[in-house]
Amino acid sequence: MTTPSTDSTPPRARLGTWPTPLEPAPRLARALGLGPDDLWVKRDDLTGLGGGGNKVRKLEWTCGAALAEGATTLVTTGAPQSNHARLTAAAGARLGLRVVLVLAGQPGASASGNLALDGLFGAGVVWAGDGGERLASRAQEVAEELRGRGEVPALIPFGGSSALGARGYVECARELDDQAPDLATVVVALGSGGTMAGLVAHLGGSRVLGVHVGAVAEPARTVSELTSELSGKPCAPEELRVRLDQVGKGYGTLTEPVMSALTLAARTEGIVLDPIYTGRAMAGLVAAVEEGDIAPGQRTVFLHTGGLPGLFGHPATLARAGAGLLGG
Ligand SMILES: *Cc1c(COP(=O)(O)O)cnc(C)c1O
Repeated sequence: MTTPSTDSTPPRARLGTWPTPLEPAPRLARALGLGPDDLWVKRDDLTGLGGGGNKVRKLEWTCGAALAEGATTLVTTGAPQSNHARLTAAAGARLGLRVVLVLAGQPGASASGNLALDGLFGAGVVWAGDGGERLASRAQEVAEELRGRGEVPALIPFGGSSALGARGYVECARELDDQAPDLATVVVALGSGGTMAGLVAHLGGSRVLGVHVGAVAEPARTVSELTSELSGKPCAPEELRVRLDQVGKGYGTLTEPVMSALTLAARTEGIVLDPIYTGRAMAGLVAAVEEGDIAPGQRTVFLHTGGLPGLFGHPATLARAGAGLLGG
């Protein structure tokens, strides 16, 4: 199940389907004022495991390490609609490991979107209460409890974003070398930071535009630290292209630019974005074109990082999407 490690390469669990496709988006490109050949979509929503998404690439490395350590149970943290938690649950099922998810908030009356899939994949959930501060310490406690019962827990970091997990996005950047050697800018949602860090480590800071979603306090510093650790060379926050303008009222909220971007991508290309991550990344891309930061005649790649189940766990977005279709 794992590829044996050589001296310098850590062990990797095989979980996804590679390479993911790179597809042209000519109708969306024209709608944004770009040339029809300027905009391409890297389909990391099609990574295969558990409904797909960017977390699969990181989990190949973090789960590879867990298996090498003899882990019996994966423990990770997240928001109730965490795509990372859902894909950790799926990875555990695939690898024959138990999974405990430590999620922010309280149990609700029903489970939708990612949370319903967590249950389907057989993960256990521990509710850590409101406010994100207790998540990491609660996960440590859960790991201790598991150890006390003879389990071997492996703590997978928030969003899978350690330097080890970010290796998955060095791989993705290598795929892009082959698929779009002339790429000028890849646009990506910046959550816990590992995805952007892996891309920057391979492509350089000037070719990656991250759109902050409000998941961490200091997005540029988070990415620069991960990139430095991963590449072994210092990367300063100032070397990074990060947009901070798409957060709106906060991580879980739907903004008007995001609703417009979601609708535009769906109606021009039949591509579904989610309100938290990929919708913000697309809204950031729209703004970057308007400001001339992304210009016609340059190859731009939009990294589709997945998140479809999150759309089905976001009532405000579902209501807007379906408005006008209902009687009464
Ligand atoms: C987690 C996530 C991201 C952000 O990736 P990070 O590596 O956490 O920055 C983007 N899109 C989706 C759909 C995600 O689930």
